[in-house]
Amino acid sequence: MMRKWNLRELLFKHDEYNIVGHVRADGDCVGSQLALHNVLKASNIKCNIIKNDNYGTVLSAFFRGYPVMDGENFNEKLPLICVDCSDFKRTGPKIFEKYSKPYLNLDHHISNDNFAQHNIVDANSSSTAQLIAESLIRENISFDKATAEALYLGIMTDTNRFAYSTAIDTIKVVETLMGKGISISEIHRSVYERNSLAKYRLLERFLHNISVFGDGNYCTSFITENDLRETQCEPLDTEGFVNYTRQIDGVKVGAFLEFHDSYLKCSLRSKNSTSRMDLFAKQFGGGGHPAAAGFTVDAAGENFYNNFKFALIEHVKNLPGEKS
Ligand code: AMP
Ligand code: MN
Ligand code: MN
Repeated sequence: MMRKWNLRELLFKHDEYNIVGHVRADGDCVGSQLALHNVLKASNIKCNIIKNDNYGTVLSAFFRGYPVMDGENFNEKLPLICVDCSDFKRTGPKIFEKYSKPYLNLDHHISNDNFAQHNIVDANSSSTAQLIAESLIRENISFDKATAEALYLGIMTDTNRFAYSTAIDTIKVVETLMGKGISISEIHRSVYERNSLAKYRLLERFLHNISVFGDGNYCTSFITENDLRETQCEPLDTEGFVNYTRQIDGVKVGAFLEFHDSYLKCSLRSKNSTSRMDLFAKQFGGGGHPAAAGFTVDAAGENFYNNFKFALIEHVKNLPGEKS
């Protein structure tokens, strides 16, 4: 497919940038930030990574040695690059309250609302990292092994280790990244084999709370802030939990809710992209992809969980082609 943008022209325009991903960071937004930082640095362009949230133990390790700046203390006059953010608010209040318009929006969410001065958005891309990698390769922008590792991190995590409908384009990019000498097993280990025992204790509670309903088509579970406190976990320890809901035989749609004291976070996953999880999330002010989406709302009332389950069934029933 012919792509219309020119990343080189946009990237090499200024001599210093701020870069940010979304709150509740994941491998894609971290890998994309690190990759762009490296590419810019190689051309003597300064790129400050703005810390908008807690990165957690696993992802923090990837930032070692990089110029990470405190989210309270950065020069807001510099052009801002946002990666992997479907809307500007996803950068978190520390960032979006200080900028009126970001310089560049690099993303792959179908729900992206083109919030920046320049927008490079491709919903067909597995990850923002893939979009960046393809642009670098196509435009002959040179990059090193560390950059290839960062890009692989993004692709590996957003495709859930190539479990989602992964296109040949993704594999071709990975082939080029492997040509830079990256070790796939090392990157895999550094993400998926660093679980804490505390996370397993939290997982016990999550699995205990699982319920299947609506003729076996739906599966949901939840944890509370109290569960996090008692197991001594941080919110990022729930990474991957939602997959258990979708992975049950017969289940079409899975959801995982985190009930925090001051907010509620929901992750949505479906086996098929026709279930349009992004549109369901939008009803609650969130967004995402057709088969993987999410939303965050202010602290929810007692009935939220039951009402939510009902709304989920209604959403799927009302999809075009679904029998009621
Ligand atoms: P998660 O369930 O947190 O892994 O998120 C799944 C997908 O939904 C990701 O692509 C997120 O970018 C998107 N998403 C999650 N929460 C939100 C939100 N509050 N607003 C917009 N998109 C979200
Ligand atoms: Mn992401
Ligand atoms: Mn992503």
